[in-house]
Amino acid sequence: MNGRDYDVVIAGAGIVGGTLACALGNQPLRIALVETKPPVLHWPIGARDLRVSAVTLGSARLFQALGVWDDLCAQGVSPFYDMHVWDAAGPGEIHFDAAGIGEETLGYIVENRCIQAALMRRIEQCANVVWCCPASVEALELDGDHILLGAKQSERLKTRLAVGADGADSALRRLAGIGAQAEEYGECAVVANVKTSRSHQRTAWQRFLPGGPLAFLPLPDERESSIVWTMPAERAQNLLALDEPGFIAELQTALGDKIPRQGLGRVEAAGPRAGFPLRRVHAESYIAQRLALIGDAAHTVHPLAGQGVNLGLGDAAVLAETLLRAHAEGKDIGARSVLRRYERARKGEVLAMMAALQGLHRLFGSQHASLRWARNLGLDMTDALTPVKNLIMRHAVGGGSHRSA
Ligand SMILES: Cc1cc2nc3c(=O)[nH]c(=O)nc-3n(C[C@H](O)[C@H](O)[C@H](O)COP(=O)(O)OP(=O)(O)OC[C@H]3O[C@@H](n4cnc5c(N)ncnc54)[C@H](O)[C@@H]3O)c2cc1C
Repeated sequence: MNGRDYDVVIAGAGIVGGTLACALGNQPLRIALVETKPPVLHWPIGARDLRVSAVTLGSARLFQALGVWDDLCAQGVSPFYDMHVWDAAGPGEIHFDAAGIGEETLGYIVENRCIQAALMRRIEQCANVVWCCPASVEALELDGDHILLGAKQSERLKTRLAVGADGADSALRRLAGIGAQAEEYGECAVVANVKTSRSHQRTAWQRFLPGGPLAFLPLPDERESSIVWTMPAERAQNLLALDEPGFIAELQTALGDKIPRQGLGRVEAAGPRAGFPLRRVHAESYIAQRLALIGDAAHTVHPLAGQGVNLGLGDAAVLAETLLRAHAEGKDIGARSVLRRYERARKGEVLAMMAALQGLHRLFGSQHASLRWARNLGLDMTDALTPVKNLIMRHAVGGGSHRSA
């Protein structure tokens, strides 16, 4: 094997690609991790990332197994014990709590760049992982029992398996000729970190508005939350252009004054904002010859339930486990039969989650009077039916998923 021969080349060192590299770290496989943009590893003390993720218990357990959880905790993860969801167009309300499902927390809010930095520090300790950055995979060619990847700013990489972890616009998906079903929602998620007059009470708050959901996710400071506010794209442009007092006034109106348990209070300050256009993308296949897709490259979902990263982490864990088992059994890790095992293990869970998110998006997006009535009744009935509610929550927090690699 020469310096450019690998067992696995991972294109994309976002949270999902970085996690796969960690899971394959210090194993008897030679890995290259190729990334276009150098990740941010240092920032001023107290500065917060605009992007955060609600990390499920299953994902937290995966990070523990990979040896990155302690690093994340040292940087600051924010556990939440309750979740309140209520409808602006009626009295419907539902409340979930960790005790109801016998867990200490429902999940954790973690800044994306903290996750990436912790993963990078772990990868540095893995002698079998070669870091190629900045470099972009731009060409792909099959060569017998290998695949050749052409990368801008890098030599050609020869590998037994290429993994596309390169996000919703995946170049590897396109280069491998894998089609994708894509739907533009015509919506944008506006994100910002805000200060409120009252404590967030370690609770994730979500109010469904006619234009889309508004979520307040608790940050480590008890009066600081990260908001994710979905709305029609045009309205988002207007809101992004407002000055801080104008934006706070709109946000306060959207939050309303009937906040359950007197949480949050008034919005007092809002930091910089950013908008993310939303779409749904689902690859027609997660595999091709000597290639596998993971994370947003395979499936991009609406952020209304905070599941995108978590689904991608499930892919990374299952792919790592599949490859390591195949290698231990002396099999070719790029063989179709091996990759099929990965796809079969993931597609069912992803399709079920995508269908649930589509259903929620339609149900809460509709202003039809009968649907409004039904969803408010549904929220209240589910809230009253503790076993059903706890079943939903147990699934959402990913209690049992993401077996470690
Ligand atoms: C507003 C918002 C809020 C969200 N909140 C949550 C949440 O609370 N919880 C949750 O689970 N999910 C959430 N999501 C979804 C989540 O952000 C995504 O699912 C997740 O970031 C996807 O990670 P990824 O690593 O697959 O892709 P990406 O994060 O897109 O990473 C892809 C990486 O590949 C690199 N790359 C691209 N092309 C190439 C190439 N050709 N060669 C090499 N490298 C390349 C990119 O530079 C990038 O670093 C949210 C999404 C949005 C928009």
